[in-house]
Parts: sequence; structure tokens; C-alpha cells
Amino acid sequence: MDQDKLHVAIISSPGMGHLVPVLLLGNRLATHHHLHITILAVTTQTSPVESSLLTSLTAAAHINIIKIPSPDISNLLHPDAAVVTQLAIMMREARTGIRSAISAMNRRPHVLICDLFSSESLPIADEFHLQKYVYIPTHARFVALTTYLPVLDKEVKGQYVDQTEPLRIPGCVPVWGQDVPDPMLDRNTRQYNEHVRMGINFTTLSDGILMNTWRDLDRRSLDALKYNGILRSVVKVPVYDIGPLTRDVDPAGSDENEVIEWLDMQPFESVLFVSFGSGGTLSAEQITELAWGLEMSQQRFVWVTRPPASSAHDGAFFTSGSGPNKQPDFLPKGFLDRTRKQGLIAPLWAPQVKILNHRSVGGFLTHCGLNSVYESIRGGVPMIVWPLYAEQRLNATLFSEELEVAVRPAVLPAEKEVGREEIEKMVRSLMEGEEGKMMREKVKLLRQSAKETLMINGSSYKSMCEFISCCEMKMKSV
Ligand code: UDP
Repeated sequence: MDQDKLHVAIISSPGMGHLVPVLLLGNRLATHHHLHITILAVTTQTSPVESSLLTSLTAAAHINIIKIPSPDISNLLHPDAAVVTQLAIMMREARTGIRSAISAMNRRPHVLICDLFSSESLPIADEFHLQKYVYIPTHARFVALTTYLPVLDKEVKGQYVDQTEPLRIPGCVPVWGQDVPDPMLDRNTRQYNEHVRMGINFTTLSDGILMNTWRDLDRRSLDALKYNGILRSVVKVPVYDIGPLTRDVDPAGSDENEVIEWLDMQPFESVLFVSFGSGGTLSAEQITELAWGLEMSQQRFVWVTRPPASSAHDGAFFTSGSGPNKQPDFLPKGFLDRTRKQGLIAPLWAPQVKILNHRSVGGFLTHCGLNSVYESIRGGVPMIVWPLYAEQRLNATLFSEELEVAVRPAVLPAEKEVGREEIEKMVRSLMEGEEGKMMREKVKLLRQSAKETLMINGSSYKSMCEFISCCEMKMKSV
């Protein structure tokens, strides 16, 4: 190993939506900037799909992965605790394992990067005299809202969702209460306090914040984070827009997938892909409405199905991709027969990146997780955004109302069922209407800007170089 090379360790919290962006960051730093990378992956169960994704994302980049089993937290919280609370506690308890892993490394890292839920590990960097950064794998609006939350917490009375005016973050587009991330919905909960704490950690414990975003996505929030005096007085540390880092490969063997073979036979941009990320689940009633809406639209579709869940919308978060891979028995009677020629069901999991880059795919009905949205933009595919949990409502507003690359239901799907007629209408409008055509053009322009920003001289490329130079300078000065 080259001893002069900057060595960066990156901590990842459990869950595909957390592991994927960390692997992408590691991959980018290793392949484009030739750094030495170690990923400290705190894992719950690793399903076969997660394992193969891990391999596909790291094989070429020679990244070292240390798996840290997630600690047993069953005696520390209620079994029904929110996913955010579970993650925050899990990552707090995982610090012993993280500390031991760093201590056992033959060559110590120079830099420790903590992901969204591992900011409480930032002080570990001090113990080992490492530089310390946070990686927030999303856009500037989320970062501005989260870092400014400790101020809002003091200034705003009552629940954010009940405010008659939007929340004002200096220099940024105001955020309506209904769009705030899940942990901010109820200020009397533990997950809210965890979220405020994260906001404080990002700005007080780190040397800087890396964000998976780029200039053209939300220029106003990015500029505010970098230059607005009031916001800067809260954020204090440098922020780096280094994205969009997004997956361009699926695990080996995905080509033989039945879905891809079916797509190969369909006309250009004629298929709607329907998937709710790695953890999203719908109620039995909503699944029925969705099935009818798809059927009534008469548009071709591929639908990744998951058994119904009665309450939480992130019911499969810790078990993504696992379970019996059989044709579902929870769809309306006769649906599979009637739609045999129109669509295809993929139980539990499908090679999403391959699908979104397939010439036959012309639309994506997504829960609006940021990895999924970026993959859709990369594929040049407009969306129906169907936010379920986490910060997805914030994403949905950005991509539908502002960037106009998506349509969304009139109701919030996490609160109220979307009826079959509305689904039919949205699908038709996206797949064969004028609105869909315009969105398709806009998403292709966004795809172009996403590509250019990562090229040499692109804004995200330069921002990443700034971050690395800063780390290298500090490394040489000790
Ligand atoms: N994914 C996939 N196949 C599936 C479902 C999900 O490959 O059937 C991948 C998807 O491509 C994305 C990740 O899992 O990279 C999901 O991340 P996202 O941020 O969209 O949502 P989350 O699962 O974190 O809610």
C-alpha cells in the first residue's frame, strides 16, 4: 500500500438506502481520485440481494470492507420504535465495534466520514487524531433544513405540520410543514429529538459536510448553505456538493433476469416501472387500488410487489429483498390472468438500475427514495412520485413542483389511499400524455447536467477535489 496515499474510512448505517450511497462514495474516491478506502459497514442481516450489490459496487474499486455486526438493542427500546430511533440507537451502540475496528487496522485512516445516522461516532475520530466529516447522501434542502432545525426548534411554537406559514430557512425555498421529514412530524417523539441532535452534531462535531447533490438540482439551497450569512453562522463548517453519485451497475447475472427478457420484447419507452425502494410497503387496500389503477390505465408495467403491511410504510426496511420469492396471492382476483400481456410482477426485488436504463422503460412510479430518483434521472425516466416515509415528501415536492420531472397524487399516500381512478389518470398522463412528454424532455436535460457536473471541471468534480485537497493538506501538516 502506498503510504503517502490518503486513507479514508467511511461508516455506513444498516439498510440498503444507507449502504448504497456509502459504497458509491467509496467507489468514487477510489476510482476517480485514487484514495485508499475502508468501509465500516454496520449491518443487520445481509440478504442475498444486499450481498450481491455489495460485491458489484466494490469489486472493481478494491475497497476494503469491514462488516460490524449491529448490536442487540432489543432491551433499549420498544419493539415498535420508529426506524429512525432504531437506527440512531443502533449506531450509538455500534461505537464500540467501530472503535475496535479502527484500532485493529494495520494502517490507520487519516479521515473518518460518518454517514447520516453515525454522526455520534465523530468523536471517535478525535480519539485517533483523524479528520472527521459527515456524508449526507441527499440534497442541499434536506441539509439546510436539518442543520437549521436546532434554531427552528427554539423559534417555532407547536407542531411544524400545523403551521399556517411555511418554515423559513435563511436563503432557501421555504418548506411547508407537510413536507418535513418523518422525524419532524411529531415534536413529542424520541425520533424528533434524535433528529435535532443529528443537526447539532453535523455542525458542531465535524470538519465539514459532504452532500450527494449538484448545483442544478437546488441551486438556491446550495448557495444559501455556502454563502448566506445567517445560515453560515449556524452551519459554520464547509459544505461540499459532490454528487449525484448513483449506481450504474446491477449485480452480475441480472441480464438473465425474467424482467429484462420481457422488457427486451416491449416497444420503446412504453413500460412503467413500479417499485417502492428497498423498504417500502403498502396496505392491502392500497395494493388493490394500485393493481386496478394499473390495469385500467392499459399501459405496460413491471411491478415489484411486497406483501401488504398494516401500519408502517417502511415495513421491509431491515429485511429488504428477503422472503419467499413467489407469485403474490394478495393481488385482486384474476389480476394476474387479465394483465398477463400487459405487465409483469417481480416479487420482492428487481434489478432496478438495469430496468431504468432499459430502452423500453418510459416511466417510474417510485416512493421517491433519493437513490431511486437519481437512478431514474440517470436513466432519463420521468416519474410518478409516491412518498411514503423518511424525507420523501420533501423530495416529491422538489422533483414534481419545482423541477417538473414528476407528477404526484393529490393526497399524501402515507396518510390516505390513492384511488384507482387517480392512479389510472396519472399513469396515462405520464406514459402517453403531453405532460409526460414535457417531463421526459426535462428529465433528459437534468440527466445531462448530472453527467456534466461530475466531469473534470464540472462543479461537483471540483468540489470533491477541494475536499480532498483540504484533507491532504491537513494530512501533510501533522
Ligand atoms: N433497489 C433495487 N431493486 C429493488 C428495490 C430497490 O435495486 O427491487 C435498490 C434501488 O435501485 C436503490 C435502493 O435499492 O439503489 C433503494 O434506495 P432508495 O434511496 O431509493 O430507497 P430506500 O430503500 O432507502 O427507501
